[in-house]
Amino acid sequence: MRRLFPGHGVSRGNALGRARVRQPHALEVAEERITPGAVRAEVARLHEAIDMVRAELRDMRTRLHGALASEIGEFLDLHALLLDDPELLQGLDALIANDLYGADYALRVQRNRLAAVFEGMDDPYFQSRVEDIDHVIGRIHAALHRHDAQVTGVAGEILVSDNLAPSEVARLHARGVLGIVTGGGSMLSHSAILARSLHLPLVVGAPQALAQVNDGDVLMIDGATGLVIVDPDADDLRAHRERVREGKRERRQLHRLRREPSRTTDGVDIRLYANAETREDVAEAHALGAAGVGLYRTEFLFLQRDELPTEEEQFIAYRDLVLGLTGRIATIRTLDIGADKADGSGLALPFEPNPALGVRGVRLALRRRDVFTTQLRAILRASGYGPLRILLPMVARREELVTARRLVRTVAARLRREGHAVADGIALGAMIEVPAAAIALPAIIDLVDFVSIGTNDLVQYLLAADRGNDALNELHSPLHPAVMHLLHQVITTAKSQGKPVAVCGEMAGDALFTPLLLALGLEEFSLHPGTLLEVRRAVRDQDLAMLRSRAPALLRARDQAGIERWLSAVAAT
Ligand code: PEP
Ligand code: MG
Repeated sequence: MRRLFPGHGVSRGNALGRARVRQPHALEVAEERITPGAVRAEVARLHEAIDMVRAELRDMRTRLHGALASEIGEFLDLHALLLDDPELLQGLDALIANDLYGADYALRVQRNRLAAVFEGMDDPYFQSRVEDIDHVIGRIHAALHRHDAQVTGVAGEILVSDNLAPSEVARLHARGVLGIVTGGGSMLSHSAILARSLHLPLVVGAPQALAQVNDGDVLMIDGATGLVIVDPDADDLRAHRERVREGKRERRQLHRLRREPSRTTDGVDIRLYANAETREDVAEAHALGAAGVGLYRTEFLFLQRDELPTEEEQFIAYRDLVLGLTGRIATIRTLDIGADKADGSGLALPFEPNPALGVRGVRLALRRRDVFTTQLRAILRASGYGPLRILLPMVARREELVTARRLVRTVAARLRREGHAVADGIALGAMIEVPAAAIALPAIIDLVDFVSIGTNDLVQYLLAADRGNDALNELHSPLHPAVMHLLHQVITTAKSQGKPVAVCGEMAGDALFTPLLLALGLEEFSLHPGTLLEVRRAVRDQDLAMLRSRAPALLRARDQAGIERWLSAVAAT
């Protein structure tokens, strides 16, 4: 039966395929016994997982909206009731305490016991409750294994899951998965950024879909509107084909701009760099006439593995990036692991109470000098093959820049002594994404050769709105007067000192914001190649002098509505 579920489209594209739901119900667990001394800890582990599921269900309940909200709410309430069922809980505790089963095996035994009772009933309604038991038990099982959940999904499938780590997105894409739907998630999570980079349609914030879709259902998803359709009818299929055709038409039109300059109507050339994560991004950036790569996130070399990449491996990746750009500059950002970008090698601290405010970016690099030095060696060796510059993430203090500069000098000198061809005068830049660095830019600008504004983090820290929390999607908007003022201040300070300044957050890739950034004085953008031509088209429509004359009005806006009114007024002229 055809059903529609709303979500937020965060990575454009349409996909039609079979659903693969990641909610492990059928537990393939081998019998496993524990020692009497381990009972307390095992029961505690199980209850921690149950608490986690209770919180998840509560959270999903609060996020329900749309036509089917009350029906689905009832369904979630039923699961919450099952979760608190004394029969279920005491049975599990007893299986661990008396039979000395591990929590996984206890779940399986208890599931089979309850399923046998329901399946033995004549009433089809009760028989079908086995599905709910599977759902609840499966969620507890997943919560027990939060850290090693298996990624499933194959070519021709659309994965429906609660949430996904960036490393999983890359693996799913490599397996030919057509699209992803998640119950949680947000526009600016690194998983979303990576999905956009891979052109993998992604719909987030679709808890109804997660609760209702079954394995094998035919799904249609629209990564622009966020609509998920189960069992699409003939009209849906026609509309899907039309959207795919329309997408191709639009791409053909934009394609004509690939050799055109990114020049405003009054003749000012704007530099559009690419944010590149993969070899394909680099090739695409090159083909679209990007000025170079403005942000190469090196952490993606570290994510899909359990051990650190060697100097040689990194060197090859950076050298190939430089060679792929045939003389255009590559901006290589040093490792920004931490927060939601945790690796498997144990480099990021595993349990920080507040990882977004924790040991990430340059803070981690300066604590792990061995890892940082290896990376700098690899980058500096690659500099012998073409122009590159180094970008430091999460800079907050002058001291960090002093230390990093010294390290770069020392490593370069050692490499030269070893006989490597290291370029002279490699530019070192800072990401401006911590408000302290933005406000105190005049105090650190002498130590950097260029700056790149990371609006994803800058907005998160400035507005105290977690970029990965979908409950704050509305709040995490760059259209806030504080963001306008700080952007203006950073751009003006950098330009007054003759230092190049770009914006490399997702904001730079959204053509809606192009007039606003130009008005604030920006002349360099770094954005995903997937939207480069749209931003070029927007640049080519703007009269820069007119926009700049309207900057004071933009800076006077007192709220989001005021900034939106400014954007509409500019679009109308
Ligand atoms: C940013 O914060 O805007 C940015 C570009 O870096 P990342 O998204 O990798 O944190
Ligand atoms: Mg950042």
